[in-house]
Amino acid sequence: GALLAAVELHKSFGSTRALAGVSFSIAAGEVVAVMGPSGSGKSTLLHCLSGILAPDEGTVTYDGHELGRLPDAQRSLLRRTDFGFVFQFGQLVPELTCLENVALPLRLAGAKRKIAELAAVEWLERLGVADTARKRPPDTSGGQSQRVAVARALVTGPKVLFADEPTGALDSLSGERVLKAMTDVARASGTAIVLVTHESRVAAYADREVVVRDGRIRVSEWQ
Ligand code: ADP
Ligand code: ADP
Repeated sequence: GALLAAVELHKSFGSTRALAGVSFSIAAGEVVAVMGPSGSGKSTLLHCLSGILAPDEGTVTYDGHELGRLPDAQRSLLRRTDFGFVFQFGQLVPELTCLENVALPLRLAGAKRKIAELAAVEWLERLGVADTARKRPPDTSGGQSQRVAVARALVTGPKVLFADEPTGALDSLSGERVLKAMTDVARASGTAIVLVTHESRVAAYADREVVVRDGRIRVSEWQ
């Protein structure tokens, strides 16, 4: 069965229809690429799936909980414990080292510094960026920063990783390295990934690909 499922989502911003009846589901541990041209509704779908945005109509159900029926506090707790996020850029704290960035979600959840930092080192190693531990993000390459961001998103052990154009700001070679590291590590830890992108190349790293056009899912194919 599905871990996360959206049924018939509609969402408009003023007169702009962003989602016009989208249904989507993802199983535990599955990697799904959400493709489609710019402006087709991919980010809006991701925001509804992750409970950041309420759809006008339709339901999103995660692990048996209908997100729209949960109180705000419970929904944000769920986001922190079960969901991880990676964006195009700008998600790391530039004043902290890469190690401190990855340890931060655990520190905020109450873990002791030593424990948080040991876990952070382990995740930096898994993503192949252990050598960035003592550097600050602005002193690393774009590809390294994104792998650190993936480590930070996974350090809390989420069930679903939402990645919105995670390689959008990278050249194609470092983009592919980030995608490979992210999908390898997520597969090893059983984390599902909703991977929003407009690059067709990334489909090679996904189990399945769906295409959004004009706020609807138009093509759905199994590889
Ligand atoms: P994609 O991620 O595929 O580029 P989006 O989901 O960002 O598409 O956007 C879908 C449509 O909704 C676009 O026409 C966009 O301009 C519009 N849109 C998205 N978010 C907002 C917003 N917060 N306010 C107004 N319009 C928005
Ligand atoms: P990637 O982004 O996949 O690491 P790059 O070609 O961007 O690949 O970088 C190759 C190497 O060059 C990196 O591993 C890093 O050591 C170094 N490097 C690249 N750009 C920077 C930068 N802006 N600051 C510091 N080091 C960098």
